[in-house]
Amino acid sequence: GYPGRDVPATPAAVPAFDVQAVRRDFPILAERVNGRQLVWFDNAATTQKPTCVIDRLSEFYRHENSNIHRAAHTLAARATDAYEHARDTVRDFLGAASLEEIVFVRGATEGINLVARTWGVANIREGDEILVSHLEHHANIVPWQQLAAEKGARLRVIPVDDTGQVRLEEYLKLLGPRTKIVAVTQVSNALGTVVPVREIVAAAHGVGAVALVDGAQSVSHMRVNVQEIGADFFVFSGHKVFGPTGIGAVYIRRALAETLPPWQGGGNMIADVTFERTLYQPPPARFEAGTGNIADAAGLAAALGYVQRIGLDAIGAYEHALLDYATGQLAAVPGVRLVGTAAHKASVLSFVLEGFEPLEVGRALDREGIAVRAGHHCAQPILRRFGLEATVRPSLAFYNTRDEVDLFVSAVARLAATRP
Ligand code: PLP
Repeated sequence: GYPGRDVPATPAAVPAFDVQAVRRDFPILAERVNGRQLVWFDNAATTQKPTCVIDRLSEFYRHENSNIHRAAHTLAARATDAYEHARDTVRDFLGAASLEEIVFVRGATEGINLVARTWGVANIREGDEILVSHLEHHANIVPWQQLAAEKGARLRVIPVDDTGQVRLEEYLKLLGPRTKIVAVTQVSNALGTVVPVREIVAAAHGVGAVALVDGAQSVSHMRVNVQEIGADFFVFSGHKVFGPTGIGAVYIRRALAETLPPWQGGGNMIADVTFERTLYQPPPARFEAGTGNIADAAGLAAALGYVQRIGLDAIGAYEHALLDYATGQLAAVPGVRLVGTAAHKASVLSFVLEGFEPLEVGRALDREGIAVRAGHHCAQPILRRFGLEATVRPSLAFYNTRDEVDLFVSAVARLAATRP
């Protein structure tokens, strides 16, 4: 296993990182697919799970399983401890000030819907403007579109340049007294662009708007601090940061959280119920109706602890070098067109191969045990901005290696050579 915190600090600028030790922590990486060792290059869709996460789920169900908060017995206390420990782990991971700011949800999608249904329904009026960037995942477009349609508000789009980076000067022109919320991704899932969210949030605040940052693609690749970013809302999904599916979190800045109405109604979120009226719990319980995903919250805490022990700076430096290498190698294959060439990128390579549909490329790679996504990546507007309906999208994580990049590039090159 990875020794984590015990690794001595190195004098070099790049922190020590042992990829082979990391790989041993992920049992699925030894899996064979079509007679080859699996190469998992579909990390933007979901990430693989280290043994400590798999074991944590098992341990929870073997020794701690109970519903939380409600009962006076020992297992309820264990489950409650696990859930609240997980909340504190998420708080620490995001650099949030207090536990009240962390709401558990199913993932980034549910988090954005929660914000649209609570903050949005309470604050958006006819004629108001909601700003998103051209890079957004459908999860950060559709809830705002639905809200805008209901309220007679307007969804406006921050354009990107030909490299796939947000055009800040155009963004500043879009901001105005009608702007009520700016919702942007920190890393594009389709192109890998790292978006300057701090500047974007600051400018939103400058016109009195609030800002939501979608961290679904950022938290596994870079250190994130919601207070430094200044975000009012921040969402992410556990499964994209080596944790289980079905669990994620929304950070809601405390001063805002206290003013927001609840979303769903039911158990856990109430202080007192009569048939005439209901009094609600303060945040975060106010936003967590019903039985939460307790075991997976514990699994998420294990995943975040694992990532923090290795260190996101070390992970980011390693991945950056790997992405640079992969970009150079792939760009040299005849017929490859890279899409998304921003100066600041993380994890994602998006490309098309002349003479082949993206899905054909994906299937050819799968025959060699290499898993990539081929399609629209739930981000149709940004692909269409580049005249495409689909791309091939390998996406890297800290357990990927140069050898895997070489296997992938040579497979693409061999396919390219078969073009008639
Ligand atoms: N936002 C971005 C940038 C994403 O990449 C994704 C998932 O691909 C989501 C939101 C939605 O995440 P989930 O499906 O886990 O809710």
